[in-house]
Amino acid sequence: MTARLISGEVVASRIKEEVKGEVESLRQRGKEVHLAAVQVGENPSSEVYLRSQSRLCEEVGIKYTLHTLPGDTGEEALVAYVEGLNKDPRVSGIILQMPLPKGIDAHEVQSSITPQKDVEGMNLASMGQLVYGKARLAPCTATASVELIKSTGIEVRGKELVIVGRSAIVGKPVALLMLDLSATPTVCHTQTRDLAFHTRRADILVVAVGKPGIIKADMIKPGAVVIDVGINRVPEYDAQGTPVLDKKGKQKMKTVGDVDFEGAKEVASFITPVPGGVGPVTTVMLLKNAVESAKM
Ligand code: NDP
Repeated sequence: MTARLISGEVVASRIKEEVKGEVESLRQRGKEVHLAAVQVGENPSSEVYLRSQSRLCEEVGIKYTLHTLPGDTGEEALVAYVEGLNKDPRVSGIILQMPLPKGIDAHEVQSSITPQKDVEGMNLASMGQLVYGKARLAPCTATASVELIKSTGIEVRGKELVIVGRSAIVGKPVALLMLDLSATPTVCHTQTRDLAFHTRRADILVVAVGKPGIIKADMIKPGAVVIDVGINRVPEYDAQGTPVLDKKGKQKMKTVGDVDFEGAKEVASFITPVPGGVGPVTTVMLLKNAVESAKM
């Protein structure tokens, strides 16, 4: 079998159009969708990401304001700043840019964002609503994974879902969201005794670990839907196993997921590529959450 590719770009572009329409209809009712992104200190590694976030917002009509606080801002001052944005009626959603300087507890700051403006779906109230099956704002990577599963058109109800990875931003919320769709989730982690035993039972397999090739073809049930969340940078080799070099003679790096894609695509029925799978959908789920928070 050769799996059908689930294109994150296609799913993302559909969601983007929906978001654009909603932003416009909110505008007609006098409500502006306005995202405030907060970063502490300038961080060259975040620059590309911030630029693309801002461009994407512009494309769908969302106002985007970047607030850069001095690099020596402490936790108390950062929380006070966030609380100011919580009270600002012009701001409908708040994003906290990572990484934060050492000594600042990201979880604490995240939880100081008022639940109605928590577009990343990461604070305690949002997580609690997830447990009650009432999440309006859930973590973007988790909702992106669910959107990609839904895009295959398969019946989710009653299916065996195996998730590898139990983080608060991916594994756990995917389990809760899919439980609400009546799938039967199992969540695996480093202490799981026989990982392959579980993954081979999966009708739907979601992998969010951060270890390239941890899921091999023989760990996948024939016909399964495979969602590869992992993002890993690895050295590039050609077909003969020779390192691929750049113009300066340095070995090139490439981005891969957690699943051995070449092997897995011969076994699965649907599979997400990396890059081009979960990533682009995660980005637009943030815009979708921004619209949701403006409605709230
Ligand atoms: P975390 O490091 O928070 O969690 C990784 C999870 O994998 C942990 O639960 C860990 O178990 C589990 N794990 C590690 N090794 C094994 C193993 N050998 N067998 C079974 N389970 C294992 O990562 P994140 O959830 O934040 O991210 C996971 C991956 O997804 C990363 O590659 C990240 O870059 C990517 N990602 C991609 C996004 C996207 O938009 N596409 C967004 C967010 C993340 P334990 O809890 O026991 O330690």
